[in-house]
Amino acid sequence: MNLLFHNIDLHDQDGHKLALALDLANRIIEHSNDSILISLAEPIDRPGPRVVYANETFSKQTGYNQEDIIGNNPRILHGPDTDLATLARIRKGLAAWQPIREEVLNYKKNGEAFWQDLNIFPLPNAAGEFTHWVSIQRDITERKLAEQQIYDLAFLDPLTGLPNRRLFYDRLRQTLLNNARSEQYGALLYIDLDHFKLVNDRKGHATGDLVLQSVAKQLSLCIRAGDTISRIGGDKYIILLDSLGKDSETASFITEAIAKRMLSSFSLAQEDIDHGWSGTFSIGISLFSGDQSRTLEDIVKEADLAMYQAKTMGRNRLQFFDDEMQRANLEKNSRIDILRQALEHNWFVLYFQPQVDQHGTIKGAEALIRLQHPTLGTLLPGTFIPLAESTNLIMQIGHWVITQACQQLALWATQAAFMNCRLSINVSIKQFQHVDFVTHLLGELNKTGANPKLLTLELTESLSLTESSHALEKMLVLKQHGIRFSLDDFGTGFSSLTYLKNLPFDELKIDHSFIVDLTTSPTSVSIVQATIDLGKSLGLTVITEGVETQEQLKLLIRAGCQFFQGYVFYQPLPLEAFEAQLREPTTVTKKAV
Ligand code: C2E
Ligand code: CA
Ligand code: CA
Repeated sequence: MNLLFHNIDLHDQDGHKLALALDLANRIIEHSNDSILISLAEPIDRPGPRVVYANETFSKQTGYNQEDIIGNNPRILHGPDTDLATLARIRKGLAAWQPIREEVLNYKKNGEAFWQDLNIFPLPNAAGEFTHWVSIQRDITERKLAEQQIYDLAFLDPLTGLPNRRLFYDRLRQTLLNNARSEQYGALLYIDLDHFKLVNDRKGHATGDLVLQSVAKQLSLCIRAGDTISRIGGDKYIILLDSLGKDSETASFITEAIAKRMLSSFSLAQEDIDHGWSGTFSIGISLFSGDQSRTLEDIVKEADLAMYQAKTMGRNRLQFFDDEMQRANLEKNSRIDILRQALEHNWFVLYFQPQVDQHGTIKGAEALIRLQHPTLGTLLPGTFIPLAESTNLIMQIGHWVITQACQQLALWATQAAFMNCRLSINVSIKQFQHVDFVTHLLGELNKTGANPKLLTLELTESLSLTESSHALEKMLVLKQHGIRFSLDDFGTGFSSLTYLKNLPFDELKIDHSFIVDLTTSPTSVSIVQATIDLGKSLGLTVITEGVETQEQLKLLIRAGCQFFQGYVFYQPLPLEAFEAQLREPTTVTKKAV
C-alpha cells in the first residue's frame, strides 16, 4: 500500500478506511497547485474521448472547463509554436509505457501561450495492466521567461536583438566543426557602415540607434534561414553564410550574389537618407572550408582586412580576402612595429624648415618629423604619419612632437639669436580632437616655460573639425594663451571657406599644389591671387609653401604674399644646420631671393 496511507492515521475502522483514503487523495488532487489530468491508456494516436478527469487547477490554468476537456484529447493544448520534437518524444514514451518528463509550450483556451513542465506516468490496475495515464502539469512560464531574459542578456545585442559576438563565435566554431565533416564551404562577411559617425555627430545617438536597428532588419532580410547575423559592436555587423557547396567557385558565386543584394537593397532606403546616413557600407568577405589550417580568429581577421580594403577602394563595395591582402597586412604590421620601436628607442627627430619673409629673413620654422631607422635610414613622414593616424600611435607621436617643440622654444628663449624664432608644428586632427589635447599642450608649455606666443599649430581641413563645436572651444582657449593657428594645405580640402568662416585661424598656408604650375597655369595664378586677397581681407597672415623657383617666388611677391617656405630658400634642416642659419643668415645654404 502507498506510503501516504501508512503514515496517516485514518482511524482503523474497517470499511471506513478505504473511503477516507479516497477522500484524502481526492482533496490532495483538487487542492494541488499543479494541473492534473487522468486519461484512458489507449494507443496515443487513436482519436476520440481520452481525458476522464481534470482537477480544478487545470481549468484555472488553461481556461478550459470540465466540459471542454472531459472526453477530449490533451492535444487541445497544443498550438503553433509547440515544439514538434518534444511532442514526438512524448509520443514515444507513451508508446513504450514509460514515465515522461518534458517541458512544453502549450496554449490556453484564450490563445495565450504558456510553458508547462509535464510529468506523465502510467497507472496500472490491480492486475498490473496499464489502464490510465496521469499527467501532472506545472506552469513554469515565469521561470522560462527569466531563463529567456538571462539568455538574451548573455547572447543578444540589446539594441538590435541580433546574436552578440559571443553567440556568433559559438556558432562559427560549430560551423567550422560541421564543415570539417561535411566538406562544405562557408563565408564570413564583415560589414561596416560608411560614414556612420556623421549620423551620430549630426543627428544624435538616438537617430544613430534607429539606423543601426533598421540596418539589422534589412540585412536579416537578405540572408537565408540558417545563416547568422550579428552586430559585433558599433556599426559593425558580421554574417555567417553556411552550406555554400563543396567547391570554392560555387561558394564565392553565392556569397557574391548575397553581398551584392545587400549593397543594392540599401542604396534605396529613403528612411536612412532621412536619418542622414548615406545608406552605403563596405563588405569584406572571407571564404572558409572545413580545413583546420585557419582558426576562427584568422577568418574574422581576414574578413575585417578585406573590409578595410573595400573602404580604401572607395567604400560601398564588397571585397574578397586574398593573399595579396595577407602580404600587405604583414607589411603593415611590421611598419607599425617600427613605429612602436621608434617611440621606445627615440628614433624620431625634428627637422626645421625655415619660413622667411620677402627679403629672405628667417622668421620661424615648421617642425617636420623624421624617423631615423638604424638600418632603413631616414624615413619621411609621408611613409608613416598616415599609418600612425590609422592606429592610435599618432597620439604618442604627437605628444613627442609637442614636448620637443616646447623644449626647443624654451632653449631658444635663452639665446639672443633664437629668442624671437617662431615654431609651427603639424597637429593631426585625431590628435587635436582628443579630449586631453588642450590640457596636455598647456601642461607642456607650463613645464618647459616656452612662450606660447611663438607657437603655431598647423591644422588641415577635415569635415569632422568644422562639425564639432569642441574644435572652436579648444582653439579659443589656446588662443587666449597666445597660441596661433595656421590652416595648412589651404585649397585642397572641400570646405576651406567654411573653415575660415567658422574657426579663428591666424594664418592661411597656400598648398604647394597651386605653386607647382604657377608659371604655366593662369588658373593657378588667379586662384593664388584670390586666396592671398581673401586671406589679407580676413586679417590673416598668408604663407606659401613649396616655393621652388625664383619665377614662382617673383609671381608670389607680386601677388602680395608675405611669407614663404620652400626649397628656393631652404630644405628642412637638422637642428644644428637650422640654428647655424639663424645665427649667421648669410651662410652658403641660404639662397639669394
Ligand atoms: P606639410 O605640412 O604640407 O609639410 C610640408 C611638406 O612639404 C614637407 O614634407 C616638406 O619637406 C615639403 N616641402 C617643403 N618645401 C618644399 C618644396 O619647395 N617643394 C616640395 N616639393 N616639397 C617641399 P615632409 O617633411 O615630408 O612632410 C610631409 C607631411 O607630413 C607634412 O606635410 C605633414 O602633413 C606631415 N608631417 C610632418 N611632420 C609632422 C608632424 O610632426 N606631425 C604630423 N601630424 N604630421 C607631420
Ligand atoms: Ca604643415
Ligand atoms: Ca602643407
